[in-house]
Amino acid sequence: MFICDKLKEKKPLISFEIFPPKKEFPIDTIYQTIDDLVNINPDFISVTYGAGGSTKDNTVDIASYITEKYNLSALAHLTCLTSTKEDIENTLGALKEKGVKNILALRGDYPQNASPEDFQNPKYYKSSIDLIEHIKQYGDFCVGGACYPEKHPEAKSEEDDLLFLKRKVEAGADFLITQLFFDNEIFYRFMEQTQKYNINVPVLAGILPVLNKNQVEKIVSLTGCKMPEKFLRILSKYEHSPESLAEAGLAYAKEQMIDLLSWGIDGIHLYTMNKPAPTKEIISGLTTIRGFLNTKA
Ligand code: FAD
Repeated sequence: MFICDKLKEKKPLISFEIFPPKKEFPIDTIYQTIDDLVNINPDFISVTYGAGGSTKDNTVDIASYITEKYNLSALAHLTCLTSTKEDIENTLGALKEKGVKNILALRGDYPQNASPEDFQNPKYYKSSIDLIEHIKQYGDFCVGGACYPEKHPEAKSEEDDLLFLKRKVEAGADFLITQLFFDNEIFYRFMEQTQKYNINVPVLAGILPVLNKNQVEKIVSLTGCKMPEKFLRILSKYEHSPESLAEAGLAYAKEQMIDLLSWGIDGIHLYTMNKPAPTKEIISGLTTIRGFLNTKA
């Protein structure tokens, strides 16, 4: 099913993000994780494409597994920076043939030691906007795009980033998923700004339950997202007690989610890090709230 149609029928959606196994592991090592996540009853599952060093090859097959085995919507991430138009056309053909109806259209990061100048050849896509336009011309897909409540690190200013986001939506992005954030107030300010710029598609908030300190440090250095004081206190208090940190990290994510749901969010996208147990713990703590909101919608 198209995620755009789900968003018209029911809000808030709850979605999970997984990544394919690294090259040295066979594809079926992810299937048990998916089985466990599906049992938690998400509205869709997204599958990353080459993020964090995982392979790009399996995204289509894993998204198709989710669609076929469970009749559940899958969102296949697709990056374009290092792909030619033919590569993308082939991937779109494979997704269509395998019944995957939703794509998160991304530019991707520049490879290490490369810069925008290395990608000036017209055979390359310049940004996610080119990819979104291509997919929309191809037809038959609901298309999502990424957005950045704390501004993309390459954007010169917040205003530039919002103007670019507006163009992304005008190019055909049907919904947006945010970069992860730890401070809801920053997200609410961002949403106010999107209204000013007439960016009116549904926005799903990306939430990462923090389970260990290395993970946070890596993510913060990659995304540049800010950590509020109360989150920093948790990190410093429990940094030498992994179990306590994980417990507090889950509670923090749950509190963020309750606040977002009360605010009236269109959806929450949980970065599961392929870990069903903590995902289950968070979601099962929201069962009544979720039921209440779905009945109200
Ligand atoms: P774009 O939308 O093309 O641009 C990013 C930013 O650059 C814009 O916001 C804008 O500020 C600036 N910019 C770009 N072009 C212009 C221009 N012409 N003029 C002015 N400003 C411009 N990466 C992966 O490799 N695989 C994944 O599966 C993956 N999944 C992700 C999922 C989510 C929800 C998010 C938020 C990110 C994900 N990423 C993934 C990371 C993503 O690839 C990087 O953040 C990348 O740097 C930007 O991708 P984008 O599609 O946002 O790029």
